[in-house]
Amino acid sequence: MAQVIQAIRGMNDLLPEDTSVWQQVERVLRQTVSSYGYSEMRMPIVEQTNLFCRAIGEVTDVVEKEMYTFEDRSGDSLSLRPEGTAGCVRAALEHSLIYNQEQRLWYMGPMFRHERPQKGRYRQFHQLGVEVFGLNGPDIDAEIIALTHDLWQKLGIADSVTLELNTLGNSEERKAYKESLVKYLEAHFEDLDDDSKRRTHTNPLRVLDSKDEKVQEILKGAPVLFDFLGEESKAHFEKLQHLLTSMGISFKLNPRLVRGLDYYNLTVFEWVTTALGAQGTVCGGGRYDGLVEQLGGKATPAVGFGLGLERLMLLLTTLEKVKAKSAVDVYVCGMGAADGSDMIEAKQLALCSQLRQALPEYGIMNHCGGGNFKRLLKRADKVQAKVAVILGEEEIKNGTVAIKDMRTTNQEVVPQQDAVASIKAILERQD
Ligand code: ATP
Ligand code: MG
Repeated sequence: MAQVIQAIRGMNDLLPEDTSVWQQVERVLRQTVSSYGYSEMRMPIVEQTNLFCRAIGEVTDVVEKEMYTFEDRSGDSLSLRPEGTAGCVRAALEHSLIYNQEQRLWYMGPMFRHERPQKGRYRQFHQLGVEVFGLNGPDIDAEIIALTHDLWQKLGIADSVTLELNTLGNSEERKAYKESLVKYLEAHFEDLDDDSKRRTHTNPLRVLDSKDEKVQEILKGAPVLFDFLGEESKAHFEKLQHLLTSMGISFKLNPRLVRGLDYYNLTVFEWVTTALGAQGTVCGGGRYDGLVEQLGGKATPAVGFGLGLERLMLLLTTLEKVKAKSAVDVYVCGMGAADGSDMIEAKQLALCSQLRQALPEYGIMNHCGGGNFKRLLKRADKVQAKVAVILGEEEIKNGTVAIKDMRTTNQEVVPQQDAVASIKAILERQD
């Protein structure tokens, strides 16, 4: 036998029981972003490598060691997208979507990062991304946070996630802070772990979210960014907090929250949970007012977030907030021969298409391959149908059908013209 080829490590197949859960959740996500008046973008999965280097930053983990980069047949360096913001800005610029106009956009799709696969961390994962362009006030920051908060409520997990909030100030404030932080880190250089030593001179803010306990201890005495903020940055942050409070959204200030990508300024936030172990960040975002200009456009304020769908699904299934649903509601079976030259198979097909027209929101499956009564019901049970509809010789002769409620196992025989109403009544009882 030929050897079976396996999927790439960290890249998951979603099987029918998974897609059933994903579809239910995706429906809530789509419905929610639409209810805020946001429009969908669909960008390519592959972009020029340069785009990510320029947008995300050369010395970030993502660009330094996580990108899937390759040369295509024309010799161009391309990368699988590790996140969606860079591509969204690129597309918005390319099609003049943000030239002197606001945009509130969303997208959903796969992202790729070459990380060590573990629970909640994969090499192909999916994000819902939201990006807003052209609005610079804290009201829009509050809006997208409220949108995520709505999602948790609709999905029943509002009590299991907490909002962490910080501000990174503007670039001058951050620059002054960085200088002071680097001085402090240099004074404690010998006690830092290797990652933090390296980051002290490449990306000092990242040292703040080091997981190393010794580093965390040292950081207790480090200068705090908040002390470097000017009036405007402080006012933005305070107004945001007021708006969140006015909407009843509670949050925790986390002065160490810096996010992994370089482009953020002012507001940054994360929704975290303790229910998933180390991979506790379900959603993260913030303002990135410099990115559009950095990618060649006119300076444009922007804010957005990325929500990790695998982590969301893990949380929802761990907390038993969603369960897989069968694709089949009604299982249509035929037994014996029909009268005249007609075949039972033809009668079944006709009944199925009649039911599909009358009940378009339900899954109607036709039983193929014949068999006795026991076998038919076993199949109906196997596919987790709610209703089995049986056409036997007797029924065909009398113009009736047998309808079995698979949950109660009650069976009734009704005239064919009443079949739809009876089936519908059973389905609605079970919904
Ligand atoms: P982390 O700190 O967990 O590495 P990150 O800061 O790299 O996350 P972002 O780039 O902000 O993550 O992406 C937004 C969200 O996408 C994360 O909060 C997380 O839910 C999800 N995510 C990021 N990387 C992965 C991955 N490798 N596998 C699954 N989900 C991921
Ligand atoms: Mg990461």
